[in-house]
Amino acid sequence: MTGQNATSQDTQTQESQAVQSDRPERELYLDAAASDAVPASVIEAMTPFLTEGYGNPSSVHASGKTAARALDAARASFATDLGAHAGDVIFTSGGTEADNLAVKGIALAQIRREREASAAAASASTPARASTPASASPHSPAHRILISAVEHPAVAQSAQWLHDFFDFEVVRIPVDAQAHIDLDALSREARRGATLACIMMANNEVGTIEPVSRAVRICHDAAVPVHVDAVQAAGTIPVDFRGLDADTLAVSGHKFGAPKGLGALLTRSRVAIEPIVSGGGQERGLRSGTPNVAGAIALAVALHEAHTGMEEHNTRLVASRDALVEAIRDAVPGATLTGDPVNRLPGHASFIFPNVNGEALLVDLDARGIEVSSGSACAIGRHEAPGTLLAMGLSETEAKSALRFSFREPLHHTDIRRIAQALRASMTALHAM
Ligand code: PLP
Repeated sequence: MTGQNATSQDTQTQESQAVQSDRPERELYLDAAASDAVPASVIEAMTPFLTEGYGNPSSVHASGKTAARALDAARASFATDLGAHAGDVIFTSGGTEADNLAVKGIALAQIRREREASAAAASASTPARASTPASASPHSPAHRILISAVEHPAVAQSAQWLHDFFDFEVVRIPVDAQAHIDLDALSREARRGATLACIMMANNEVGTIEPVSRAVRICHDAAVPVHVDAVQAAGTIPVDFRGLDADTLAVSGHKFGAPKGLGALLTRSRVAIEPIVSGGGQERGLRSGTPNVAGAIALAVALHEAHTGMEEHNTRLVASRDALVEAIRDAVPGATLTGDPVNRLPGHASFIFPNVNGEALLVDLDARGIEVSSGSACAIGRHEAPGTLLAMGLSETEAKSALRFSFREPLHHTDIRRIAQALRASMTALHAM
């Protein structure tokens, strides 16, 4: 098909014909790490709570009680599938809000503690106690936030906000060439003290699964609470919130079959959190606003479906991912897999390509019906080099040549062949090979 025996001009002609003939074919969606379809079963489960059981769960009448019972049941099921207790779950509008609530909420709780201590000292009679400063000095251990250098902007920008408005010091913990957090550096910084450490469970750009369990132990040994961004992990690989012993953990529904704009923060009561959305006190006072009952049901059902047969499903997903990696390497000599080659998300293959701009490659592939991403969803259109790749030590040019292929269903071998052929054709069309 790619004309192994043909001249390169012939090959190009054939390939541009291939583009024409590829167009009517169904699109191959390989951007599940950005968002994915909502299964009919999830829509079916949530619909009655939009059309019939639409009462406000805070209302005392029968309709309100029906909605409240459904919300409780969804919360319990959702918690069980994440190794959490029902009381740990704070439903939010998605992963971004969950990350904001954890990072800002825990830091603001620290500020409240300092204000209360200061007020108590001021009202005490002894002059020594009255001279206690109103807040910890900038860059005291209480005003440090540790974040891995590859955190999603939802975490990194929340930490930056704490720096901008409250002068917190944001300490970035480096990663190695495969994006694993440097646990020695984490240990060193945790021992210097911090209000919070943030470590993602799986990286959105390169798929690397982080050693979160060890990171939590290291931080807890130094009495530093830990927030885990599990947005890419939840619904894809097993997540055990209580087993992991994390203090907070963020989840996003649209990564595993729930509609967009739904997520949760799992919290342990041992960590104080200030709400960042104030109002009627729903969700244990941590996230005011009338709960999205149908959305909570969608989250619970989608997560449960994702967990049903997950092990067997992931074995097939890994096999097709590895076949895709091999096919891409064969089709484009010089294509380099990024991230951990083994300990990575099952349906995630990310590459850097030689002599090409990732955005240009993405656009050309799109014209051939292959939909991929050039980095994190949030960076698309801004032509920024993916931050994870820069933190891994790649140059700006290398980082800008990145593409991510992500999928939740195993790829058929004909799909893999089609992707490899399209990639080869695109690279040739862009004069990159
Ligand atoms: N954290 C990670 C690791 C992500 O990949 C994303 C989204 O891609 C988010 C947080 C934000 O989640 P949401 O899209 O639900 O706001």
